[in-house]
Order: sequence, then structure tokens, then C-alpha cells
Amino acid sequence: GKGAAMVTAVAFRLAIQHAGRQRILDALRLSQEQLLDVKRRMGEEMNRGLAKESHDQATVKMLPTFVRSMPDGTESGEFLALDLGGTNFRVLLVRVRRGKRRSVEMHNKIYAIPQEAMQGTGEELFDHIVHCIADFLEYMGMKRASLPLGFTFSFPCHQSKLDQGILLKWTKGFKATGCEGEDVVTLLKDAIYRREEFDLDVVAVVNDTVGTMMTCGYEDPLCEVGLIVGTGTNVCYMEEMQNMELVDGSEGKMCVNMEWGAFGDHGELDDFSTDFDKAVDEHSANPGKQTYEKMISGMYLGEIVRNVLLEFTTKGLLFRGKLSERLKTRGIFETKFLSQIESDRLALRQVRSILQHLGLTSSTCDDSILVKEVCSVVACRAAQLCGAGLAAVVDKIRQNRNLPELKITVGVDGTLYKLHPHFSNFMHETVRDLAPQCKVTFIQSEDGSGKGAALITAVACRIRDAGQC
Ligand code: BGC
Ligand code: MG
Repeated sequence: GKGAAMVTAVAFRLAIQHAGRQRILDALRLSQEQLLDVKRRMGEEMNRGLAKESHDQATVKMLPTFVRSMPDGTESGEFLALDLGGTNFRVLLVRVRRGKRRSVEMHNKIYAIPQEAMQGTGEELFDHIVHCIADFLEYMGMKRASLPLGFTFSFPCHQSKLDQGILLKWTKGFKATGCEGEDVVTLLKDAIYRREEFDLDVVAVVNDTVGTMMTCGYEDPLCEVGLIVGTGTNVCYMEEMQNMELVDGSEGKMCVNMEWGAFGDHGELDDFSTDFDKAVDEHSANPGKQTYEKMISGMYLGEIVRNVLLEFTTKGLLFRGKLSERLKTRGIFETKFLSQIESDRLALRQVRSILQHLGLTSSTCDDSILVKEVCSVVACRAAQLCGAGLAAVVDKIRQNRNLPELKITVGVDGTLYKLHPHFSNFMHETVRDLAPQCKVTFIQSEDGSGKGAALITAVACRIRDAGQC
């Protein structure tokens, strides 16, 4: 009768809605074949970045770091370290002991970098940094100390020695003027000089990936790759000197800072990117730059999710088709939201209360299910893209050594990797699928960027002191 017809009509409408939603989400789902393609293209870009003739055009810059040896446990002393470019700015004091009491002991203090300092002039930024160092030395009761310092500076830098880093371009929302093209060690030293309070011996500029690899390498000699998936994303690994055409010499290895976040900036990812990615890029601080990073790292995933939800709502498939002011606000979904909403123990009721907390009040139970699904699809794609890139890296190391099978450890740090309930699993699985000849172990670094900078400084001082004898 009439009732049955109505039920059929409702079922039909629901089926259409469901198909509509899945069609939108399908654009964000990648097949095994597509991921293999990402791996292959990443491998090609790595070679182009390493080779002299193609380096200038390559998106993945494969920057030499002048870090050649891992700590061997004979390092010792007291070091200062700075960590700029992650979630927090920190100053650290690190004590490294050798021999039987071999250990690394750290004290650190976290400082906020105010928006004005991030986006004002370089002088303001570096004056602020030196102000924080002064505060830290006072806090530790070591105002007169003049310690060797390692500077973890997590941005792409051109290095021609360990204690120099010419900033190529800012990433992750930093914009301070007058820094690009300048040596950050000089900028730091000038600011120390302006303050006229203390002197510091800047020994090393270190990318956070390198610090992470070093820290994990201190415990596990098989660790030859460092990975960050946090606010931004990047990888470093030990490359054969003979493949590094930009540096003289062909003996041994050197750590390469890949700066893989820029992969895709010349269209290598156009086949996989969506309108949501384009929207996120357009409104970012650096449009057209860091394409791969914007599909993977914590600073951007929330924005991708928000753009998908906007599309669903405009199409009448979510929030009863009502666009709230909240949903139109950029940046409302922080990274931690993605981790929270996907937490397995979370009931839908709680998802709804998170949405309410975000001012998305008109949500139904169905809405909660859909929002959770969007988060999961976006995070899964990020993890798989990241895994595809990493598969290219470990396979390259295996081929460098002409091995049928490679055992290797990857040291990892970053809030997204550490806090998201599924990211790491999806990523590991992808690496396993796409690089089956590599047996990859992942270890999380504890405080890699700060500790690593100190270890690299310690190694440099050990070698320098040995040279002086
Ligand atoms: C920077 C890299 C850094 C990564 C992780 C990227 O935006 O360009 O140098 O390693 O973020 O912090
Ligand atoms: Mg960090």
C-alpha cells in the first residue's frame, strides 16, 4: 500500500545520499597502483635532487647536512640546544656522559613564539630567541656560561658546512622577513651580539629529522633514516657520498635532508590531489609550495577535513544542509581533533559532543558517523602517501647497497605519528606492501630534535678537539 511505497521512497533517498557521500570520499581514496606510482615518482625526484644537472629543477632538494658519522658513545660534555620549527620553541641544556655511565641528561624550557615574532622581521624573531636563551641561562643559574650550541632549525637550509644554514624558504606558517637567503647562524650570532650579555659557540645547524635519526642511532646502529610527521613532514637518511654530486668526495656516507614536503610542487601529485587540497593550498601562507606536506602533515589535515565537510553540507548531505559560521572558519579543526575523533574508545555520543564544542550544534547521529568517516579517510590517505614516499627511500638504500633484502630502522618523531590512533599502522602497512624487500623497524624518538642537536654538537666537538691535539 501507500506505507510501503513511502518506505521505499525513503530508502531510495538514503541510498542516493549514501552514494553521493561515497562519491565525494572516493576522490580521497588511493589504490595500490596509485601508491606505487607515488613511490616511483618520489624515487625519480630523489635522483634528480642528487644529480648536479637536474638539482635546480628538482622539487625534492636532497640537501647535504655535513653529518657523516653517528655518535659512537665516546662523546661527552655539556651543550646547549635550540629547537625551532615544531609545535614549540625550546631551549635545552644537555649533559652527555661516556663510558660505563654513558647517558644523556636534559633540562629544557618551552617558550611561546608570538605571532608577531613569527611574521614580523627576522631581527624581531632572533631577538626573541636570544631573549629566551638569556631567560633559560638565568633559570639554570648559568648566566656566564659559554657553551657549545646546536641549533635545530626545522626548515630547508643550504649547508656547505655543519655550522652554517642558509634558509631557502620558510614553511609551516613562518613568515619573518629578511631571513630567506640568509645564514641563520649569522642571524643568531648578530642577535646575541646585540644583546651584549653572553657569548655562545654555535657549532651545528641541524634539521629535526637529522636530530631524530641521531637520537635513535645512539641506541640502535641500524637506524639510518629519520622521519618527522608533525606540524610538517620530512625525511633524512644516510646516502652514499658517491651519489651526492653536490658535495666533493666519494668516500663513505653523508646524511641527506630530503625536504620531501616540496614533492609535488611541479605537478608530480596532480593526479592524486583533490579540490579540497587546492582550497587548503590557496589559503595557506605559501601557496603552490609544500604540496606533499599539505596532504600529510598535522598543520593541514584539519583544514582538508573542514573543506570536505563544507562540500557535504553545501550538497545537503550533512548538518541538514545548514552552513554554520563556525564551519566556515579556517583553522577550527586542530590536529588533536583528528586524533581525538578517531580514538577507538570514543562513542558516537562523544563525537557529537566534540562537534558541539566546535560550535557545530545541529548534528545528528548520522552526522557524527560521517564526520568520523571523513577524518578517517583523510588521515588514511596521509599515512599511505607518507608510507609510499618512505618505501621509495628504503628501497633506494637497499639498491645502493645491492642487497636482495635490507634490514633498517627508521627513527620517528612528530605529534601526528605519535598521537593519532591509526596513522602509524596505516603507514607501516603501506611501507610493507610497497617495499617488500625491506624489513623496516620503526622506533619513536624521545625528544629527538633537541637531544639530537646536542649529540651532533658533541660529535663535532669530539672530532674538533681530536684535531687540535
Ligand atoms: C620543513 C622541514 C622539517 C619538517 C618537519 C618542514 O616544513 O621544511 O625542514 O624537517 O617540516 O618539521
Ligand atoms: Mg620537534
